[in-house]
Amino acid sequence: MSQRRITLRLLAPLALLAATAGAAQASASELERELYRELHKMPPAAVFPLPETRACYDRLGKIATFTPVPIRVEPSQCARYDMVRLDRVVLPDKSFVVVSPAPSLRCSMAEAVAEWVRDDIVPAAGELGAAVAAISGYDSYECRPRNNIAGGILSEHGKGNALDVGAIKLRNGASFTLTDALVSKPFREAMRSRACARFATVLGPGSDGYHNDHIHIDLAERSNGYKICQWNVLDPAPIAVPLPRSRPLDLAADQSKSR
Ligand SMILES: [Zn+2]
Repeated sequence: MSQRRITLRLLAPLALLAATAGAAQASASELERELYRELHKMPPAAVFPLPETRACYDRLGKIATFTPVPIRVEPSQCARYDMVRLDRVVLPDKSFVVVSPAPSLRCSMAEAVAEWVRDDIVPAAGELGAAVAAISGYDSYECRPRNNIAGGILSEHGKGNALDVGAIKLRNGASFTLTDALVSKPFREAMRSRACARFATVLGPGSDGYHNDHIHIDLAERSNGYKICQWNVLDPAPIAVPLPRSRPLDLAADQSKSR
């Protein structure tokens, strides 16, 4: 839809307002202020998705099922016009991986997550003994500072640009996190290298103490494409070998030996 048609749609109710206001002999400046308010509280994307958002919907619809999320204009620092709820990732064989709870993400991030699941997680999980059934994203869009530290920089979560990945569930019922040192280390190392190649930020154990039990991924935009990849793939804790229990001292036997 053209900007002109959008403008006409916005102006139609305002014409009615003008007529009503005219009857009430409202001042011209009052109408101008009303027009200004209406135009600024309804960005074009509120009327119709922007072309790049529609193009993203088309791409995402081929690899996932999703629902567009109504625009959010408040609080202003977290306003987004291109959010979706990512429900399921559709695999090439038409089976799917559930994303639960379904995260709210900007469309481009949802597309990156769907590609990550399809192209990286599902093929690599083959060595774990069963296909992937679901992944849990336990934090997605949330208007908050980084690590919930008051006064801090706005988190990528506040832009719909980040996902915290929790458990991965297999079709045989097994469930694990990517930070679990008992899970195959080659698998976790592959997950790390592929996530770091795909996303702008990857934070896990060893990053800052806030990511010991989950992996944070985001598409932060930085100058020169600078990336942050901080995820220590831990070795399993050494298994404690029990020492032989000491036996009670047999004084009588020892005394006989010493004679
Ligand atoms: Zn996070």
